[in-house]
Amino acid sequence: MQGFDVDVVVVGAGFAGLNAAARIVAAGRSVCVVEARDRVGGRTKPGTLSGHVVDLGGQWVGPDHRRLIALAARHRIPLEPQFEAGGKLIDYRGRVRRYEGLIPALPLLALLETDRVMKRIERMAAAIAVSAPWAAAGAADLDRITVAGWLDRNLRTKGAKAMMDIAVRAVFSAEPSEISMLFLLTYLRASGGLEPLISVRGGAQQDRVKGGLHPLSERLADEVGRGRLRLSSPVSGIEQDGDGVTVHVSGGEALRGRRAILAVPLALLSRIGAQPAWPALKTGLAQRSPMGSVIKCHVAYETPFWRARGLSGEAVSDAAPFSPVFDGTPEGARHGVLSGFLEGDAARTFTGKPPAERRQAVIATLTRLFGPEAGQPIDYVDNDWLEEEWSGGCYAGLMAPATMTSYGPALRTPAGRVHFAGTETALEATGYVEGALESGERAATEALRALS
Ligand SMILES: Cc1cc2nc3c(=O)[nH]c(=O)nc-3n(C[C@H](O)[C@H](O)[C@H](O)COP(=O)(O)OP(=O)(O)OC[C@H]3O[C@@H](n4cnc5c(N)ncnc54)[C@H](O)[C@@H]3O)c2cc1C
Repeated sequence: MQGFDVDVVVVGAGFAGLNAAARIVAAGRSVCVVEARDRVGGRTKPGTLSGHVVDLGGQWVGPDHRRLIALAARHRIPLEPQFEAGGKLIDYRGRVRRYEGLIPALPLLALLETDRVMKRIERMAAAIAVSAPWAAAGAADLDRITVAGWLDRNLRTKGAKAMMDIAVRAVFSAEPSEISMLFLLTYLRASGGLEPLISVRGGAQQDRVKGGLHPLSERLADEVGRGRLRLSSPVSGIEQDGDGVTVHVSGGEALRGRRAILAVPLALLSRIGAQPAWPALKTGLAQRSPMGSVIKCHVAYETPFWRARGLSGEAVSDAAPFSPVFDGTPEGARHGVLSGFLEGDAARTFTGKPPAERRQAVIATLTRLFGPEAGQPIDYVDNDWLEEEWSGGCYAGLMAPATMTSYGPALRTPAGRVHFAGTETALEATGYVEGALESGERAATEALRALS
């Protein structure tokens, strides 16, 4: 190891960086993980509500999230099903309606059109290869139009349009006008389609981790070995020469490795200087991959009063800022919790505002949806992800038109001795913790292969 501190320096201790590091340790190589925050877990984060732990960031586990399920199983941490028994609510054009099952209470024509367009989107997504969407038939046309533009062109009823807007906001925490149609299809394809992404049973919201998802990042950090982690150490630059990489930490420290893995959101690449400079297409991609906009909120009540009325706690709105909403009650708790999101424009309206202002807007939405009992919360907590310096927004990086086809091929391409991980680079479950784990695995494989 002459001249080197470690074989691989990993930047970022989210699930991607930690999983990459765990793989490198398991392969018998040395590693150091350098993390800007004073904690691991990145876009997962613990909070407290009425004395119970809640996830302020990533929370749910889907049935296809096999790496995440295996991680929980390794540490004997059980999953618990998301509560979904009972009726759901939809607030559409000023009226709150209740419905059972999967079909929302909408005019018949709107329902038929929603069904038709969803099936069409599923077929279009199935034709995309996540590894090279830019090579798909019609990619240039699909990347020239926003999702809003495509929906306007292909939908006639207001109801179907409202449903699709709600679905897109829920999946991307962005307005349909912000993202390219090709990007949407690629993202859906990486998770098996739109329906799995918006569903509870059989979908991305099926299960929660008992005690929270964030603690699993702590367990993964244990697997890496705490002595291999440097917290509160923002990386400011990466220099490469003929032998290896030098990773500079703000404050002056430098770490020398044979290889580096950058496991930070691509949108934050500009915070890390590079010598030689990052390849032009990588920089261009990072400049065109903004993060989504989301504020996650949990509200506690004396009891889960909606359950007594035969409601599941699930609700969506076409106009109120707080949507979608789910039952977030911890299993076995006496109190009830409604959890949900301010997304896209709503998140941008409320970011930077005092939490009391957000609380008021959230409670007002819940009262409108669930009635006056929702106006009597016993506790409230939220997390404004737009204000998180080391995330810059959430859930994940997005691509506007003309990004995927022009810059997409640079997404996973290494820059010299630097490999790229992070959920944005995932081939499976892009945008999710499962995607982060998969990307870490892939980047570690690349680095290990280069070392051998
Ligand atoms: C509100 C919300 C809800 C979500 N819900 C779900 C869900 O239910 N299920 C699900 O699977 N996913 C969900 N997600 C998404 C999920 O949390 C992310 O996909 C996942 O955590 C990303 O992991 P990552 O390792 O790729 O990136 P990150 O978690 O962002 O990790 C990157 C790390 O790099 C660090 N970093 C950044 N810049 C630097 C630097 N210059 N130097 C050193 N370190 C740096 C950051 O601090 C961070 O720790 C949600 C996210 C949010 C915010």
